[in-house]
Amino acid sequence: MSLALSTTRFAPSPTGRLHLGHAMSAVLSHDFARARGGRFLLRIEDIDSGRAREEHIAGIEEDLCWLGLLWDGPAVRQSRRLALYSEALERLKQRGLIYPCFCTRADIARSATAPHGPEGPLYPGTCRGLAAPDLDRPHAWRLDMVKAMALAGPLEWYDEQAGIVTARPDLLGDVVLARKDAPVSYHLAVTVDDAAQGVTDVIRGRDLFAATHVHRLLQDLLTLPTPDYHHHALLIGTDGERLAKRHGAMALADLRAQGVDPKEIVAALHEGRAPLGFRLSGD
Ligand code: GLU
Repeated sequence: MSLALSTTRFAPSPTGRLHLGHAMSAVLSHDFARARGGRFLLRIEDIDSGRAREEHIAGIEEDLCWLGLLWDGPAVRQSRRLALYSEALERLKQRGLIYPCFCTRADIARSATAPHGPEGPLYPGTCRGLAAPDLDRPHAWRLDMVKAMALAGPLEWYDEQAGIVTARPDLLGDVVLARKDAPVSYHLAVTVDDAAQGVTDVIRGRDLFAATHVHRLLQDLLTLPTPDYHHHALLIGTDGERLAKRHGAMALADLRAQGVDPKEIVAALHEGRAPLGFRLSGD
């Protein structure tokens, strides 16, 4: 009998210290792996060189230790894996599935015809099919969604709460796979890394549910395995809004300074409850 071990990961972006919402993803990922004798990995998503800070990486590790969460092996840093992402992008380029895009955010926002997807206005396709793009000008690379979906055919993925989900990457339109200011985007880096690290179960907040449609498509195009997904409920403040800065000192470092016992936070999350007077979305 073969016993497949679970591998989970916590993948914060080091643009600040961890807050309670991060703690929830981290605790659930950690517990899932530990309950199955599997691995819990830490991946630092620091491709945004403009916003990622070295001191936050150390702070994140400190926050996790405060919660009592120990990860397996050294933390992986995306900024050191750019060659891997370029190779994946190149494979998509060779197959004519991506195109350079010169538009600014303002150009896209101005486009009155752009329908809105779950992540904001959908890209109207302005640069799709440009005859002679000048690649010396700053540009992003976008996935040609219609072409990519036609090539992949119908796809599904499994979500612990939602069950079998039909992939609808078209809801996000021609997503960016390499940014103007970075050689890769969140969608491509996360898909490549989850496969490269052997992640079997992706545990993250429901705010990333829509992104999974795109990740499923990229897995198919790059011939990568598909993990199972667990999109957990989000923490909600007493005002009914998603956890945010205005809810006060929700950074773990601040809670620590106030003398909050980390065991209280972890015990609540471990039992699937919201800690410190918060609610879970959908409750
Ligand atoms: N880096 C992302 C974030 O901090 C999470 C990525 C993921 O879990 O897929 O929001």
